[in-house]
Amino acid sequence: MSDNEFIKIKNVSKKFDDVVAVDNVDINIARGEFFSLLGPSGCGKTTLLRILAGFEYPSSGKVLIDNVDVTGITPNLRPTNMVFQNYAIFPHINVKKNIEFGLRKEKLSKDALDKRVKDALRMVQLEGYEDRYSNQLSGGQRQRIALARALVKQPKVLLLDEPLGALDKKLREEMQLELRKLQRSVGITFIFVTHDQEEAMTMSDRVAVMNKGKILQISPPRDLYNNPKNLFVGDFIGQINFLESEIKSIDSNNINVLINKLGEHTLTYSGNINKEESIVCAIRPETIQIGNNPDQIKSDITIKGKIANTSFYGNMTYIYVEIEGIAKTLMVSTSDALEGLTYDSECYININLKDIRLIKKN
Ligand code: ATP
Repeated sequence: MSDNEFIKIKNVSKKFDDVVAVDNVDINIARGEFFSLLGPSGCGKTTLLRILAGFEYPSSGKVLIDNVDVTGITPNLRPTNMVFQNYAIFPHINVKKNIEFGLRKEKLSKDALDKRVKDALRMVQLEGYEDRYSNQLSGGQRQRIALARALVKQPKVLLLDEPLGALDKKLREEMQLELRKLQRSVGITFIFVTHDQEEAMTMSDRVAVMNKGKILQISPPRDLYNNPKNLFVGDFIGQINFLESEIKSIDSNNINVLINKLGEHTLTYSGNINKEESIVCAIRPETIQIGNNPDQIKSDITIKGKIANTSFYGNMTYIYVEIEGIAKTLMVSTSDALEGLTYDSECYININLKDIRLIKKN
């Protein structure tokens, strides 16, 4: 077994009556990887995580962890531990007892137990909190105790089901950084479920995007953003413009494409594609430049438009540009001052071919 195949999910499906919650999923996860399952509500990510934990058994397929087939094995006999969204720490016992709870079956000496608890508290930076009760902790601290309780068992794999979902935005962002730092320092494989694309992108080594029980793409965050393999992934991750397009001819990796109102251009595409394929061209808003005259910016494509709307986000402004013949306004984002570019004014947008991605519709 190579370390890249530390966890093997092989053709796993899970049906609940006629609902296919997980549909023929095949994933290898590396030892020490921070791996996220990302997708909209109901796409099957929690079910897949529960299959890894042993709380659900797959209808078909297998799960191997560290070369052991765990498919039919109960949760307590797996080298996994799970952290839930509503960080269920017990209110009637103190932090120390909460953390010890997970070790009650291990029959450790008092010294060994104290050391394990101390080490776990150090990992989550809450040394000295042993005697506190749940109501004497902030939301972030409670979540860290829940993590300590999972880590104290020294699992090979930590499964995290939206563990930051109950925290406010600022605390959530702080905890994202902390969690990533912690994962690097303990070296345990983390499998993290979230519906929040920013959260998955900022923390993970790789992200699997799921929809309707299926895995649509598995890539490192940057690749997922720069090279979405299908419409769903492109749309789900960040902001994007899609333009109706048609393949005119194919010469190995060079595809001649007619893009609605932007003319005919040659783009590169590395996968298999045929001339009849339905496609769109995708352009991220930050790669489009905007100016008030056609010669201001040098680019492969310049086209005239009219500003339909702008929205200001402090460090960034989104500008929505109407272009004759294109049904949906194009979204442009910029951190520059917008001199002379206000609602209803004429503008020119500039696009370079290297920033256009060809995406199959199906
Ligand atoms: P969320 O982000 O809302 O938690 P999810 O992506 O984690 O969603 P799952 O909880 O895995 O999605 O659910 C996937 C599908 O399986 C849904 O249609 C859900 O209703 C269904 N499902 C999950 N658990 C059961 C169950 N025990 N019995 C019947 N259907 C279930």
